[in-house]
Amino acid sequence: MLHLSKPIIGKEEIKNVTAVLKSGVIAQGQTVRNLETKFARYCNTKYAIAFNSGTAALHSGLYALGIKKGDEVITSPFTFIATANVILMMGARPVFADIRKEDFNLNPEKVAEKITSKTKAIIPVDLYGQTYDYDGLKSVIGKKNIPILEDACQAVGAKYKSKKAGQLGDAAAFSLYATKNITSGEGGILTTDNIKIMNKAKMFRHHGQSEKKRYEYLDLGYNYRLTNILAAIGLAQLNKISTINRLRIKNALYLIKNLEGIPGLILPVIGKNNTHVFHQFTIRIDDKFVSNREKFIKYLKNNGIDSGIYYPKPIHLAYHLKFLNYKIGDFPVSENMAKEVLSLPVHPLLTKRQLDYIINKIKAYVN
Ligand SMILES: *Cc1c(COP(=O)(O)O)cnc(C)c1O
Repeated sequence: MLHLSKPIIGKEEIKNVTAVLKSGVIAQGQTVRNLETKFARYCNTKYAIAFNSGTAALHSGLYALGIKKGDEVITSPFTFIATANVILMMGARPVFADIRKEDFNLNPEKVAEKITSKTKAIIPVDLYGQTYDYDGLKSVIGKKNIPILEDACQAVGAKYKSKKAGQLGDAAAFSLYATKNITSGEGGILTTDNIKIMNKAKMFRHHGQSEKKRYEYLDLGYNYRLTNILAAIGLAQLNKISTINRLRIKNALYLIKNLEGIPGLILPVIGKNNTHVFHQFTIRIDDKFVSNREKFIKYLKNNGIDSGIYYPKPIHLAYHLKFLNYKIGDFPVSENMAKEVLSLPVHPLLTKRQLDYIINKIKAYVN
């Protein structure tokens, strides 16, 4: 089976973890701080704060931005559920704005329609490894005091013009989950240039404890700490990030070149301002394709090719968000993309032969 994702675990990961285990300091300590320093350097940000998940990093980011009960936070309905759940965790109200079908990311014009006096933050998502339209969103926000929390969970290493993912907002959250471009199994990172955001996020990570005085609690917080064991894996992965992303891009460009011109199969579009790191290689299957998407998925599976739908249901239609009174038809682009998208294997361990196999099987199906 050609899997959709495969972590690259080598000697360095094993060596780093062994060293931590032998050191006896396995909870949050120096290895976590080393990961933070390296990650901040990689993203060109002043600070990076490690968490035990991307969700924890997003939640802490919203806390650090001062989001309160009743505030409105605008985000995309076409993302992983965590993006909206962290808004609920703060007692705030998720307000959705539709996406663009070209890059599956927030449409700034649609965001503009949703801004009210209660809007206290926007969470744009860098879906599939391509950053959102930074200039577009900035111009819509204009002089209004609305901070951006970038959900960069899928986009480590991506770029918008000369800025890196992680720099495209007041703070940005990354995930180190097993399927992401680099991983520690579970883990997350928040990046920022703002010292106040950094301090508040660190406080939130450790039960609201004062950074200055132990056992002095200034606010409600959580246990969102990462362990040295996992940071050791993350450090080894960070050393490989350039190679990992280069191979993903290479594989994606090869697939694009060889799958061009198939009726009803719409290939990913790389924005003119973007460096796309292809966390997912996501095509669209529309009415002009030889079969429906489900039959195609079955055919791929029968031929040993894994594929995935990210995401089959836009978030505004999730059960626990019913109280927001969204309904089918509210976000037509997101709803349509949920019916059309299909992600194919693009991970760095795929050989040229395996890529050719995928291409040839798809061509055989169409002909
Ligand atoms: C993976 C992901 C998250 C959450 O990260 P976890 O580490 O799984 O908590 C949030 N948003 C998006 C877009 C993601 O892909």
